[in-house]
Amino acid sequence: MSTGWSTPAVEALRAKAIGPVASFDPETTPGFDGDKAAGTDLLAQRGDVLADLQELLFANGRAGDHRSVLLVLQGMDTAGKGGIVRHVGGLLDPQGLSVKGFGKPTKEELQHDFLWRIHRALPPAGRIGIFDRSHYEDVLPVRVHNLVPQSEWEKRYDLINQFESELVAGGTTVLKCCLVVSKDEQKARLAQRLDRPDKYWKYNPGDVDERGHWDAYLEAYQAIFDLTDRDSAPWLVIPSNHKWYARLAVCELLIDALTRLDLDWPPADFDVEAEKKRLAAAD
Ligand code: AMP
Ligand code: MG
Repeated sequence: MSTGWSTPAVEALRAKAIGPVASFDPETTPGFDGDKAAGTDLLAQRGDVLADLQELLFANGRAGDHRSVLLVLQGMDTAGKGGIVRHVGGLLDPQGLSVKGFGKPTKEELQHDFLWRIHRALPPAGRIGIFDRSHYEDVLPVRVHNLVPQSEWEKRYDLINQFESELVAGGTTVLKCCLVVSKDEQKARLAQRLDRPDKYWKYNPGDVDERGHWDAYLEAYQAIFDLTDRDSAPWLVIPSNHKWYARLAVCELLIDALTRLDLDWPPADFDVEAEKKRLAAAD
């Protein structure tokens, strides 16, 4: 079946293939030649494929398989992380999905090491977990504003790699997606939030201040890609000025990750023929 992609998303979007994020063009749709209408139609079709794969993962989890999938979403304010949760997560069966957003650490969280709250939110066996922000915040605002001394945040890249290696060794597929919007597009999206009462809840005056540190954030993202993009836990950089493209790309990346698990329906742990007979004979 044609996927509509000339280059698979997992190749076209891989951080190590895209060059410096500062010169990345968020208007582009790498690997996909169609327009918005084609992309939206395709998402509906591919969503069914994704849902079937998720059911396989869930069924295997119920049968004792310990594997799970973790999708990490990062991106500047307004990049569309919430939209991915809604529109790609929305293609999935909620019982096989766990979604966790990470905001500013609470007092309790600050008393522990930065991975403490992450450990507690990991998807159980058979589930797909989506993190809306993640442990990478601890080398993003934390680095940009030196919320902890540099000597501490610079150690975190190794700690993150170690943590993710353990996760992968334990059977979790780790997929990290960074949604990238242009500075102009962010301004337009923030302006829209101020124009629409149904979007006020998404607006945070602090977002305008963070926007003032745009280049420092790009640098912090570049460091993440340089130091933590590994084949076992890859970073995919997703141009997100076009929301339809970002959603289609994340759906495709999840399909790719689940397909690689090479799952089959778990065999019955009972005698099927005997059960058929028993049921036929039952009242
Ligand atoms: P939102 O995703 O819009 O709900 O915003 C959550 C806010 O929490 C963002 O401004 C994040 O940068 C901030 N945040 C999340 N994790 C951390 C962290 N570990 N340290 C500092 N700020 C954080
Ligand atoms: Mg926000």
